[in-house]
This record gives sequence, C-alpha cells and structure tokens, in this order.
Amino acid sequence: MATMESLIGLVNRIQRACTALGDYGGDEQAFSSLWDALPSVAVVGGQSSGKSSVLESIVGRDFLPRGSGIVTRRPLVLQLQQTEEGEQEYAEFGHLPQRRFTDFSLVRKEIQDETDRVTGKTKQISPVPIHLSIYSPNVVNLTLIDLPGLTKVAVEGQPESIVQDIENMVQSYVEKPNCIILAISPANQDIATSDAIKLAREVDPSGERTFGVLTKLDLMDKGTNALDVLEGRSYRLQRPWVGIVNRSQADINKNVDMMAARQKEREYFATSPDYSHLASKMGSEYLAKLLSRHLESVIRARIPSITSLINKSIDELESELGHLGRPIAVDAGAQLYTILELCRAFDRIFKEHLDGGRPGGDRIYGVFDNQLPAALRKLPFDRHLSLQNVRKIVSEADGYQPHLIAPEQGYRRLIEGSLSYFRGPAEASVDAVHFVLKELVRKSIAECQELKRFPTLQSAIAGAANEALEKFREESKKTALRLVDMEAAYLTVEFFRRLPQEVEKTGNPGGNPRENTAAGNPGGNPRENTAAAATVDRYSEAHYRRIGSNVSSYINMVTETLKNTIPKAVVYCQVKEAKQNLLNYFYTQIGKKEGKQLADLLDEDPALMERRQQYAKRLELYKKARDEIDSVSWAR
Ligand code: GDP
Ligand code: MG
Repeated sequence: MATMESLIGLVNRIQRACTALGDYGGDEQAFSSLWDALPSVAVVGGQSSGKSSVLESIVGRDFLPRGSGIVTRRPLVLQLQQTEEGEQEYAEFGHLPQRRFTDFSLVRKEIQDETDRVTGKTKQISPVPIHLSIYSPNVVNLTLIDLPGLTKVAVEGQPESIVQDIENMVQSYVEKPNCIILAISPANQDIATSDAIKLAREVDPSGERTFGVLTKLDLMDKGTNALDVLEGRSYRLQRPWVGIVNRSQADINKNVDMMAARQKEREYFATSPDYSHLASKMGSEYLAKLLSRHLESVIRARIPSITSLINKSIDELESELGHLGRPIAVDAGAQLYTILELCRAFDRIFKEHLDGGRPGGDRIYGVFDNQLPAALRKLPFDRHLSLQNVRKIVSEADGYQPHLIAPEQGYRRLIEGSLSYFRGPAEASVDAVHFVLKELVRKSIAECQELKRFPTLQSAIAGAANEALEKFREESKKTALRLVDMEAAYLTVEFFRRLPQEVEKTGNPGGNPRENTAAGNPGGNPRENTAAAATVDRYSEAHYRRIGSNVSSYINMVTETLKNTIPKAVVYCQVKEAKQNLLNYFYTQIGKKEGKQLADLLDEDPALMERRQQYAKRLELYKKARDEIDSVSWAR
C-alpha cells in the first residue's frame, strides 16, 4: 500500500513548501502556521550526547558536520524517503533543488556552508531551518529535526547569550504540541542530570510525546548497566526507552563504515548479557522503525485538524487576495479599461458624498445657510451709512452746486460703495465650497478601496480632480462677482418710486421724489414741517439720516437677493460641474496616452505586489496540500 509511506512523504512535501514560503513556525506569521500544525520529530540533547551519531546511524550514512563547539547552528530538517531496493542513494537540499548529492562528504560540506551563509562566520545561531532530503533504500520514511545541542558555556568567539539563545530555539520547537521529542541522553552520565530529560519534562510532563534514547551503553563502567533506565524505572515515559550503541570516536577516526557500525550494534545487543532479552527493541534500526510508525500514526490522527486548518487558511487567503485585487493586465486596451474603471469607482464615491449617500455634501448647504448669511450680517453698513459718512459722500457728489431736489449722485455713490462690500462674502462662499469639494475629493480617494493598490494613479486622479475644481472655482468666482456688479450696474427703480416722500406728513404718499419737487418739501421731518414747512433746511441732519436709511433699506433688499443668487451661482458653476465633469479633462488626456504611460499609471505599490505574490503562492501551496491530503485519505 502506498498510503502509509505517502503520509510521511506528504508531510515532507508540505514542510519543504512551508520553508520555501518562509513558514517555519513562530508567532509573527500573518496566517496560522501550517508548519506548526505538522507533526515532526525533534532531536534534543546536551552537547556530545550523541545526537549526530544517532541521526547518522538512523540514516546509515556519514553526512553531518563534526567538530568541537557548537557545530549545529541552524535546525536541520532531515527528511528520509525510502526508495526501491538497488536504487542509487542521493541527497537533495531545499535551497538547491536542482542538485543531487551522491557523495555524502559534499553533503556535510554544504550543510556547513549553508549554515555560514545565514549565520555568517560569527558562529551565531539562526532559527531558519536547512532542508535535507535523503532518498535511499536503506532508510525508513521519517522526518527528523536536528537542533543545536544544549550547552552550558559559550566557547571562544561566541556571544555569552548563545547558551540562552539555543535553549530558546530548542524550546520553541519542543513546546509545540505536534512535536515528538527524541530526547538523547548518554548512558555514562546520571540520567537525573540529562539536559534532554530536563527539557522534555518541562514541556511534556506526562511523557506522552517523548521518546527516551540512551546512547553510549558501551561506555558504561564495567559491572554497571542501564536497565533501570531502559526498563522505565528511573524515569517513566509513555513510550519505551531505546538503547543505542553508536560509533566511538576511535571508530570514526578509523572510518568505520556505517553499515558495519549497524552490524556491530546488532551484535552488541544480541550478545550482551545485560540487554540480550531486550535485543529486538534496541538499536538505531529499531529506533528508526519505531519513530516512523509513530510518526505515521500521529500524522493520520492529525489529518482532520490539518485539513481544517488548511481550509480556514484558504478562506483567509482568498478573502485577503480579494481585497488586494487581481494582478494588472499587460495590454494597453485592458490597462485603459482598468484605469477608467478605477476613475469611475472614485467618481461614484465622490458623487455619493455630494448626493448624501456619504457624509460631507451637507457642508455645502452649511456654507449657504450659515456662513454666507453670517458674513452678510457682519458687513459694516452701519459705518458706511453713518450720518457723517452720508453727509460727506453726498456733499462730495454734489460738488460746488448742492443738490436741489434729491441727491441722485449721492444716492448712487452711497449704493455703489455699499455694494462693493458684497464682493468679500461672494468670494468667500466660492472658496468655502471649493474647500469642501477638495476635501471630498481627498476623502473619496482615501475611501476608494480599488485605488489603494495604485499610488501613482491615485495621485494622478487627485491632481486632475483638484485642477478641475480650481477651474470651477475661477468660473464660479467670476459669476458670483458678476452678480454683485450687476446690482451696481442697474438699480431697482421701483424701490425709489415707492419711497415715502419727505412731505409724507402733508399727505402725498407714494409720490416720486422728482415729481414731488413742486410740493417742495424734501428733507423735512414732521416737527420741522409744522414749524416751517416751506423753508425746511435741505441739508439738515434729518435729511441725511433719511438718505442713509433709504440706502440701508435698498441694501437690505440687495442682501436678500444675493443671499439667494450667490448659492445658485456657486452650485451651478462648482457643485454641478464637479458632479458632472470632474474628470472629463483627465479622460481625454488618458485617451491619448501610450501603453507605457498607462502602465506607469498602474504602477502598483511594490510592497503590495509582493504581498499578493506571497499570498498567491501560499494559496497555491495550501490548495495543493489539500488535494494531496484528499487523495491520501481516500486511498486508505
Ligand atoms: P552530539 O554533539 O550530540 O551530536 O554528539 P556526537 O554524535 O557528535 O557524539 C559525540 C562523541 O561521542 C563522538 O566522539 C562520538 O563518537 C561519541 N559517541 C556518540 N555515541 C556513542 C556511543 O554510543 N558509543 C561510543 N563509544 N561513543 C559514542
Ligand atoms: Mg552534533
């Protein structure tokens, strides 16, 4: 049956892909780590406890770097894949997928070089794993992670913190509930002092996922044995202890072949007076099979939770990719289409702001309803139409010949002078609406999700919109000021015709000042009239007060008119234009652009592009993993 082997093979493939994507566990991941969900076997133990030796004898090959000090400085993920009898043995690195290593001394060298590539020659450690797959008829399917040995002191050239750094790194692997701990302790040392057991006890107190391995049985003092440990009396684990005899340093120096070493180990247990009764459950070959079987069953049990994690991640990634949007087309036609679509998306939001689907448009009405009337109220007509000023202006208008009947020129000057005050509020209304519109453009750009990807297009649209608003503002200002100028150009005759006459009290209401000159009583007030009606002083204070108050009511009338017409001009020239033609000019410009210029506009934020690629790759991995898992679980 292919299924059993393929379960470990499946996890191996997923692990390799995880590393390629930078997922090797840890908490800084944006998405839940698939790596963390996969069961794995981590080898832990003190320095020189025999970790490398155990790994090599499980593989049946010499391939790990040796030396004093901390040799293993990056996790080594060792994936063993059993091949057909008689096939060539070879190794492959995750970072060198094209190259097959058949010479295992080169594997050793590549591990060293690749370690240095990431950690530098400074002998630092790094949590980024090296992936090594070994394909051989002499291995069982198994994945093991070799970790730096736990150490007590930093050696020369290594920072003091390295002791703690190693412990933290090892800890980060073994604390994961999916990690199977292969705890290596040397038999020639009291088990109570074993670093591996100390760590395993911390993270797996019930001993459920810890496999105890006892090395160096051959180095125990004569007359002593490790039966108390191997039979679980010294330290209890849920899993059986396995005793190992690796090559001694002398064997290594003599280049004793791994196959010969395995043979020697078998003989050791078969003939040992202490351990022969346990012989079938001792040794590195047995350990490899035991771990392989265990790993398979753990993976099988985990498949439902891995599947659900994968499904959840696929959902997350798909929705995230949905937010990021599709990659951009390459041909100019499609690019133009994309740009126009994006402009329309922005324009839609802008219109919603104006029309009230989104907030902000109401501030334009605020300008007409509050700002403009308030500004009009504040105009200094009191000062302009003070008695003193009226007298001054009327007298100046009269020149050497004082007016005889009514001060026509004086009236005109007073009114024209007053009307010029309206220019300020008219311009201010235009500007206020301009700033509201500008702010709405800014908001709409920020709220346009589709545009987020394209900072260049974003600023091009903003630039074009603001330029258009600027033109609308100019036009609007001209129109609003024209309204004011029109008031000055032609006065409302009716108003003056309806003015009460200064001779009103003598009974001539509604008369025309000019016609009334015959009655000859302008400038009088009732009291004066009774006193000396015919000889009333044309230039008395009351006369000027009346002129001032007439002008003031005329100005009030104009104020009412402009209060209504300025908003009409502003809406017509600015708001309506912005709503209908904001990007018109931009559209004609875009239509003339060549392919390269269009592509430049769709220049994406590189960080975003990178993110989309990452997510897409990850999504592909997860989907592939899901398909593979489906196929193995159905093959059962
Ligand atoms: P590591 O630091 O944990 O990787 O330990 P190594 O595998 O490099 O082993 C350290 C030393 O102990 C080497 O010289 C090995 O030859 C020796 N050694 C390891 N296991 C055994 C064993 O079972 N018997 C003997 N005699 N020597 C061993
Ligand atoms: Mg080692």
